[in-house]
Amino acid sequence: MKEIIVFIEHRFSEILSNSYDALGFAYEWQKLFGGEISCLVLTSEEKKDIFSDLKNVVNKIYFLKNKFLENYHPELYLKALKDFLKEKENYLFLLGQTSNAYELAPSLATELSLPILTDINGIEKTDNEINFIRYFYGGKVCGKVEVADIDKKSLIITIQTGSFQFEKREINSEIIEKEINLDNEKNIEILEYKKEETGEVDISKAEIIIGIGRGLRDKKNLPIVEELAKKLKGVLAGSRPAIDAGWLSKDRQIGSSGKTVKPKLYLALGISGAFQHIVGMKNSDLIIAINKDPNAPIFSISHYGIVEDLTKIVPTLLKKL
Ligand SMILES: Cc1cc2nc3c(=O)[nH]c(=O)nc-3n(C[C@H](O)[C@H](O)[C@H](O)COP(=O)(O)OP(=O)(O)OC[C@H]3O[C@@H](n4cnc5c(N)ncnc54)[C@H](O)[C@@H]3O)c2cc1C
Repeated sequence: MKEIIVFIEHRFSEILSNSYDALGFAYEWQKLFGGEISCLVLTSEEKKDIFSDLKNVVNKIYFLKNKFLENYHPELYLKALKDFLKEKENYLFLLGQTSNAYELAPSLATELSLPILTDINGIEKTDNEINFIRYFYGGKVCGKVEVADIDKKSLIITIQTGSFQFEKREINSEIIEKEINLDNEKNIEILEYKKEETGEVDISKAEIIIGIGRGLRDKKNLPIVEELAKKLKGVLAGSRPAIDAGWLSKDRQIGSSGKTVKPKLYLALGISGAFQHIVGMKNSDLIIAINKDPNAPIFSISHYGIVEDLTKIVPTLLKKL
């Protein structure tokens, strides 16, 4: 059985939600194939306490400590991970899909000569095979990946945002701490980490979200959706094209490269439902989509749908509210 090692990423004294996605995958794997789950944390001695949430959810927690590991550093993180994994055999090394993981995972795979699977959003067990599921061609096709001789191999896997559920468990975790030496092993100097500006609203906490997409077509249509948001006491957010078009600020983007939201109501206006968007809002309590294309994928995850031009429906709605 494989050891399942989950890399825990942290920033500004908080564990990144993507690491919980990776833990969710680990649970799923464990249910299907067994194996012990470990978390691997690179940190400084001072920051160790921010990981207390992990204490009862996995079998083991490895803390590799060094003052230079307090924040992400590409060379030092890679070196620490490589040295740690070199000593292991037959494992899965899981990372949430973050920009740092995009950098670390393939570098590690190259350094350790291991196979790598990226952006995995599902796993399937059949009689004699294990299939990993992921999207191809920018989300247009969902396919299965099989790894030959998987029983004998270690694997690096990155997990797509929002694809697996983290669940609280009650396990007595074994804690293993090790101070590691990394002095003089860096060529890159990180000058400062800056917190992202949050803007005037934090959409991840909003209870009612009106999501707009490319289907809004023109900035001149913004006032009707702004009025709708006001009447519903909600906030406006959007798909990436809505942000790229400059209709909304970047902190309002929902999806794999934006924010994850879970409002009581998500009203999707002119949003097709690409997986990069859906991963950020699919867990909303109630999803209502308005789209003029009856085959838009957003309808497959919506509780209610209206097939219509949003510039006709929204003014009608406004009159009723
Ligand atoms: C690495 C990467 C990261 C990405 N990250 C994100 C992300 O974080 N968030 C995100 O959203 N996307 C992201 N994307 C982009 C994503 O793949 C899609 O392109 C995007 O989500 C599509 O946005 P959309 O639904 O607004 O536009 P489209 O896919 O163009 O859909 C527009 C929809 O509006 C409908 N429509 C048109 N006119 C009207 C009308 N008058 N009334 C009603 N409906 C109408 C159409 O039928 C269509 O379904 C990412 C892509 C990549 C490659």
